[in-house]
Parts: sequence; structure tokens; C-alpha cells
Amino acid sequence: MAEIKIKNVAKRFGSYQALRSIDLTIADQEFMVLLGASGCGKTTLLRIVAGLDAPTEGEVWIGDRRVDHLPPRDRGIAMVFQNYAVFPHLTVFDNIGFGLRMHKLPNEEVARRVERTASLMHIDQLLQRYSGELSGGQRQRVAVARALAMEPDVILMDEPLSNLDALLRLEMRAELKGVLAESKTTAIYVTHDQVEAMSLADRISVMNGGLIVQAATPVEVYRNPAERFVASFIGNPPMNFLPAQNEGEGKWRVAGHSVDGPNAGGDELVFAIRPEDMHPSATGIQATAKVVEPLGPHLLVTCDIEGAMFRAVLDSDMSIRAGEAITLAPQAGRIRWFDPQTSRAVA
Ligand code: ATP
Repeated sequence: MAEIKIKNVAKRFGSYQALRSIDLTIADQEFMVLLGASGCGKTTLLRIVAGLDAPTEGEVWIGDRRVDHLPPRDRGIAMVFQNYAVFPHLTVFDNIGFGLRMHKLPNEEVARRVERTASLMHIDQLLQRYSGELSGGQRQRVAVARALAMEPDVILMDEPLSNLDALLRLEMRAELKGVLAESKTTAIYVTHDQVEAMSLADRISVMNGGLIVQAATPVEVYRNPAERFVASFIGNPPMNFLPAQNEGEGKWRVAGHSVDGPNAGGDELVFAIRPEDMHPSATGIQATAKVVEPLGPHLLVTCDIEGAMFRAVLDSDMSIRAGEAITLAPQAGRIRWFDPQTSRAVA
């Protein structure tokens, strides 16, 4: 059973606080993605779980063992890090089989696992090549294959697909998801690519400034962001925000239009909605189309609403030109409301 528990973990580098009070439990066999902008602390957290860095405070547990005082090799994990430490003077076969040989597995078993994982990563034709001769993307796949070949209970990966071109990345993503689900491995996967996060994760931990601001399923993070930061970080184009004034009895005035909202106190909230959740309507919010971009199945319309930029993704059959007025209504049940002071969601 490879549940991972991160308890109240903090990390300081000198006076710099890279992580503050992280509490996170990753269930046995769960695929957890750490997502956030560059510098938010994703790699630091992963390195602490791996044992490559020690936390300044807090504990790390894997299964029923406290591991934060153990060296990486005693933690029962396999890892793929950004610099993917592939040995250039060894063949691809020997690189992938390296850990297996260290564990003294029989030759036939080593060969079976090397061939299987090399085939999954589409590098089976490279097995006899020296790793020093490979491209960055090929080396990266060797590193992933080497980790998978260990058939670990826990695998930690830091941007393992970052050097692959878009198409190969898409393919490897699907392979990785399939193989980890099949092998019942618990995974922590670091990325700053939200599409990758959404497609791979059972749950996403969105990080900002050394904190986990929300840990939830991809759908939950997308539909019900807990903070304004999450709402603007997830989704492309991002969520729209407009100021809303309290009209009482659960009614809020948004750009001159009355919208049903929370029956809350306070004069102001922030109305938030995804671009695909605004639809043309006879009554609603008045907008002026500024830029119209056909995206194949949709039109991305960048509008002006009372001086604020607002994006709507509309049906591509609509005929709308830059400069035209358009009335848009929010889809019921898809509005999110944020407190303007705390930026936390209130509904
Ligand atoms: P990226 O996506 O760019 O890899 P990240 O979210 O993984 O970013 P980290 O590498 O965890 O970010 O770094 C978090 C913060 O801690 C950064 O501001 C970084 O400069 C700082 N930091 C990381 N390692 C060290 C170190 N060894 N010494 C000092 N500061 C560090």
C-alpha cells in the first residue's frame, strides 16, 4: 500500500520560504499532478518526497513508514527528474536495465522488462545505441522507461515529457497514463502545462507561492476554482472577471444586468465565468466585439464590457464582426463568485 502523506512540510532556502505548511495525502494508486507557474515550489516538494532535499519542517510518510530521514534509495520509489541522469557511456538497454541489475534480477527478467518499457516509450529500436548519442527527447524517454522498468509502488516525475514535440508528447501522455493505471502505481507528476495536468491527473494540486491553493479533480478545479488565482491559471482562454454590486435578495448587478447570485452580505463580489459559458441572448450583458478569431469549431470573441476585456467562445456558425454590439447571458449554474478582498470563492 503506497499512500503518500505530506504533513505540514515547509522548506526554507536561507531566508527564502520556498514551501509553507504543505499538507497533502496522495491515495494508494492515485495519479497526483502538482501544477503551478515557474518558481511556485513544485520541484522542491517533489525533491522532498524523493529524499533529494530535506524539509525544514514537517514529515513525509510512504505507506506506514515515515521516510523523511531516509535516503532516496530506501524509500521504495522510482523517479524521473528534469536532468534525467541517463548514463551516456551505457547503451539504452543497459540504462533501462541498470536498476534491475542492481537489484540482481535474473537476466531474462531484466530483458523482459527492458523490452516492454522500451516498447511503451517507442524506443525499442534504440536499445543498442549509446545514450550519449541520443536526442534530448530520446534520453528523456529512456529515463521514463528506466523508472517504469523498476515496477515501483511510487513514481515521481518532474516534467518527464518536456523535451518531446507536441505529437509525441500527446502519444506518450496516453501511454504513461495507461501503464501507470495498469501497474497500480502511485504517482506524483510535476508540470506547468495545464492541459497535461488535466488529462493525466486523478487530482491536481494547484500551487502558488509555496502553497497548495486547491487539490481536487480536474473537473472540480476547472468548474469550481477555490480561488481567483486558480480560476485565472486554469483554462485557456482564462476565466472572465467582472465586478458585481449587491442589489439584495440574491441579486447582483453585473455591467448593468441583474444576475442571480449568492444571498450574501457585503456590497461587492467578483462575478467570474468561463468564455464558453456565455451565450448570445435577447437580454443580458452588453458587450462590443473587438477581435473575432475563428478557431475551427468555435469563434473566440474578445469583447469590451464597460472598459474591461472579456472573452467569449461562441458557436462558429454565428456571424459577428469586430465593432458590433452583442448581448451575452451567463449559463445558469456556471457562474463563480469571489470575495474581492480575500479572492476566495464564496459560491
Ligand atoms: P519550475 O517550474 O521553474 O521548475 P518550480 O515550481 O518547480 O519551478 P522550484 O524549483 O520548486 O519551483 O523552486 C521554488 C523556489 O525555490 C524558487 O524561487 C527557487 O528559486 C527556489 N529554490 C529552489 N531550489 C533552491 C536552492 N537549492 N537554493 C535556493 N533557492 C532555491
